[in-house]
Amino acid sequence: MQKVAIIGGGIAGMEAAGQLNRLGYEVVIIEKNNVPGGNVANWDRLFPHQRPAGEVVRTLEHETENATIIKGKTVINFEKSGNICRMELSDGKVVTANAVLITTGFRLFPAEKKEEYGYKIYDNVITSADLEKMFSSGKGIVTPSGKIPEKIAFIHCVGSRDEKVNNRHCSKVCCATAVKQACEVKEALPESEVFCLYMDLRMFDRHYETMYHEAQTKFGINFIRGRLSETSEDNSGRIVVKCEDTLAGKPLKMTVDLVVLMVGMEGEGNRKIAEVFKIQMGKDGFLDAADDYLNMTQSSREGIFLAGTCTGPKNIPETIAEARAAVSDIHVFLNRQQASV
Ligand SMILES: Cc1cc2nc3c(=O)[nH]c(=O)nc-3n(C[C@H](O)[C@H](O)[C@H](O)COP(=O)(O)OP(=O)(O)OC[C@H]3O[C@@H](n4cnc5c(N)ncnc54)[C@H](O)[C@@H]3O)c2cc1C
Ligand code: SF4
Repeated sequence: MQKVAIIGGGIAGMEAAGQLNRLGYEVVIIEKNNVPGGNVANWDRLFPHQRPAGEVVRTLEHETENATIIKGKTVINFEKSGNICRMELSDGKVVTANAVLITTGFRLFPAEKKEEYGYKIYDNVITSADLEKMFSSGKGIVTPSGKIPEKIAFIHCVGSRDEKVNNRHCSKVCCATAVKQACEVKEALPESEVFCLYMDLRMFDRHYETMYHEAQTKFGINFIRGRLSETSEDNSGRIVVKCEDTLAGKPLKMTVDLVVLMVGMEGEGNRKIAEVFKIQMGKDGFLDAADDYLNMTQSSREGIFLAGTCTGPKNIPETIAEARAAVSDIHVFLNRQQASV
C-alpha cells in the first residue's frame, strides 16, 4: 500500500488524512504538539455562524481514526531516494512514505514585539487569542485585573500590514475575528461600549458583510478608522489608547478597561521545515507554491505537497478546500508513480 506522510495535525492535515484514507492510502501524521487541531483547537466559537470550534476539531479528529498519529515530534532530516521519502524524527525514529504533505500552518504574531502597544507590560492589554481562551473558560468576561470591563477597544492589524515587523501581508481573518469577538462581548455585556479601531475593514467572504452590518445595527459597535500609535496605563490600571482618527483627520485619545490586540498570522514557524525539506519559502516565512495561480498545492520539490495556512493566511473553509485539492494532486502523483514502476 502506498503511504503518505502529513507534517502537521491541524485542520488541513486532519482533513487530508481522512480523504487519503478513503482513497486507500496508508497515512501517518507527524504533529509537533501533543494535541491535534492546531490553532483552531484554541478558538471558542467560529465566524461566520458561531459554530463551536471544538465541534469542528472533533469531527475532523474522527476522520483521522485510520491514520497513525505521531504526537510531540517533528522531522529533523529528510532524504528522497527514487520514490521513497525518508524522514528522521526528533526522537531518532525513521518514517518512510511515497509522498509528503506539509500542513504546518501559521503562528500567531508575538504581540510583545510591538512594545508600544503594551502587551505583557500592562495587564489589561490582551490578544484576540487570549480573549478566545476567556470565552472558552466559561467564567465570563473579566479583565486580568479582575474588573467587568465597561469600555473595550479592539485594535486591528497588530503585526500585519506592518513593515516594521517584516509582515507586509494582510492576515485576512482578523477583521472578521474582531467583528465576531466585539459582538460576543456586547452580547455578554450589553451595557458596555465597544470600539473597533481599523485601518480598512476586510470582510472578504460570504456572510461576513452581514456580520459587520449586525455589529453596527444590532450590537451598536463603534467602528473608528484609525491606527494605534501607543497605549499607556493610568493610575487605576485603565488603558489610555492614542491613535489618529484617519477619517476625521484628528488625533484621538480614549481610556478603556480592556484592549484586545488582533494578532495576525505569521509564516515564520515554517523556516525550519523549508530547510529540512529543501523547499522554497518567501521572505515572509510562508512556503512557496509551484504556481500561485494554477498549482497552490505543489511545493518547489517533486513529491512534496502543501496545504492550508503554511502558504498564507486562510479561513477554515479555504483551508479545508485546499487540503482536499492537495489530496487529489497526491492521488494523481502516486498513480503516475506506480504506473512508471
Ligand atoms: C484569532 C484567530 C481566530 C480565528 N477564527 C476563525 C474563525 O472563527 N473562522 C474561520 O474560518 N477561521 C478562523 N481563523 C483561521 C483558522 O485558525 C485557520 O484557517 C486554521 O487554523 C488553518 O489551519 P491549518 O491546518 O492550515 O494550520 P494550523 O491551525 O496552524 O495547524 C498547523 C499544525 O501543524 C503543526 N506543526 C507546525 N509546525 C510543525 C512541525 N515542524 N512539525 C510537526 N507539526 C507542526 C502545528 O502544531 C499545528 O497543529 C482564525 C484565526 C485566528 C488567528
Ligand atoms: S484582516 Fe483586517 S485586521 Fe487583519 S491584517 Fe487584514 S486588514 Fe488588518
